[in-house]
Amino acid sequence: MEKSFVMIKPGFLEFEPQIVERLSKIGKITKRQKMKLNNEILAAHYHEHIGKPFYEGLCKYMKSGEVVGFQVEGEDGLVEKIREAVGSTKNPEKGTIRHDFGIGEITRNVIHASDSPKSGQEECNRMFEQINQFGIEIL
Ligand code: ATP
Ligand code: MG
Repeated sequence: MEKSFVMIKPGFLEFEPQIVERLSKIGKITKRQKMKLNNEILAAHYHEHIGKPFYEGLCKYMKSGEVVGFQVEGEDGLVEKIREAVGSTKNPEKGTIRHDFGIGEITRNVIHASDSPKSGQEECNRMFEQINQFGIEIL
């Protein structure tokens, strides 16, 4: 069994029904929460990007509005299948979530999804079990 943390980014919450429909064909949504992120949780979530030229802009955007996070569970291969449904970072193909609901911008790219089973476990744990430690209010 695998877990993926999926998050609809600020400005794209109107597409939640369509995104849920697509995710539900791949796995089972077992948790959902709406929240507003802060610097502390973004530093943990995007730790691999700290110091990169786009990091500050990414955080500013991710704090600019509400997000909706999901825990999605399923069989082995779930994490990769969800990444395929999400589409690539730079050039998402037709039929992917980033293409179909996106505006063609690399930072405001609709959705996040865990990139490995290990980060899926870690991100679900952080976002659902440890969320109080970051002072995040669940909306
Ligand atoms: P995510 O982690 O959100 O699922 P990803 O794994 O496809 O996306 P990462 O390389 O982890 O991409 O980058 C994290 C996020 O940072 C991207 O989704 C995007 O919003 C932003 N980002 C990545 N590269 C750039 C860039 N070169 N310029 C601007 N923003 C970027
Ligand atoms: Mg990533």
